[in-house]
Amino acid sequence: MERIERKVLKEKPAAGAELGFGKYFTDYLFTMRYESGRGWHSPRIEPNEPLAFDLASSVFHYGQGVFEGMKAFLQPDGSVAIFRPEENWARMERSCERLCIPPVPADLAEEGLEELIRLERDWIPRGEGTALYIRPAVVATRPALGVHASDRYLFFILLSPVGNYYARGLAPTRLVAEDTFVRCPIGGTGEAKCLGNYAVSLKAGELAEKAGYDQVLWLDAAEHRYIEEAGSMNAFFVLGGEVVTPALVGSILHGVTRKSCLTLLREKGIPVSERRISIEEVTAGAESGALTEAFGTGTAAVVSPIGDIRYRGKDYAIGGTGEIARMLYGELTGIQRGRLPDRFGWLRKI
Ligand SMILES: *Cc1c(COP(=O)(O)O)cnc(C)c1O
Repeated sequence: MERIERKVLKEKPAAGAELGFGKYFTDYLFTMRYESGRGWHSPRIEPNEPLAFDLASSVFHYGQGVFEGMKAFLQPDGSVAIFRPEENWARMERSCERLCIPPVPADLAEEGLEELIRLERDWIPRGEGTALYIRPAVVATRPALGVHASDRYLFFILLSPVGNYYARGLAPTRLVAEDTFVRCPIGGTGEAKCLGNYAVSLKAGELAEKAGYDQVLWLDAAEHRYIEEAGSMNAFFVLGGEVVTPALVGSILHGVTRKSCLTLLREKGIPVSERRISIEEVTAGAESGALTEAFGTGTAAVVSPIGDIRYRGKDYAIGGTGEIARMLYGELTGIQRGRLPDRFGWLRKI
């Protein structure tokens, strides 16, 4: 693999510094280019410095691009482990397929990632709640304005040492159930981690924040009734002693954290189901007491409890951090940091 050296390395954040999320980036990135007829080529590690692009590049106009998000952790034995990267590469392939992007070969992507992490090992933070966040992305670089799939692409991987996604950690968040704006209809791109999904979510997110809430609880596009996701996390509810999460009907992102939580819940014999959940069922559950917990799951925040939900002008209190959310957070972060046995083979050690 080709490697282009940097002249000057950046200053790393001090040990114990407040890292936030996605604010610091390491010295290098992994890149690979695609041209039709040639395929993916020129894998290399190069300095993470501003690159020049033709402003006609299709990604800037039509959003043809996808991304991924995963994390790596230092292990007690000094090795580094990535959490379930094969799941992310498989999902990236499905996202690419949806956006007419030629699939990035998972073995080349993984090889590039591992090489990059080996090089940037000193950037991996050690503190509790911290990780090395991995952001792969593919963007269309054809300099032409016709609305067509591009004939060339750039794949890159950024690394970012991160702290807790939410400054308040496991503290409960406040959500607004959004019944005007929608994230994605069935048949749209809800299952793909594609650029446009996040641009369309900003408006509702901004309105929620202005009203004093943290995030949006998305409802389905057809009836504005069934729960889809909590911000950019998958949503879980504990209703009448059962853990329920929206079924993957086509408009919902197939979260790796969601899948891992389902595995952990089933391992512990906790009843779980994947099905449609209406906002009325949630608000009625909050009023009757049948709803004992709600939380979101995702790589960035791991598990994020939902303390209350506003719907049609009324606030429904759910409560603090529940025991299921706490258990899942403890199990996931325990496995990720090598404190608990990796009994499902989720860690890829490098
Ligand atoms: C990335 C993402 C998630 C969480 O997926 P993980 O694989 O668990 O990180 C959930 N919803 C949306 C919309 C996402 O983009």
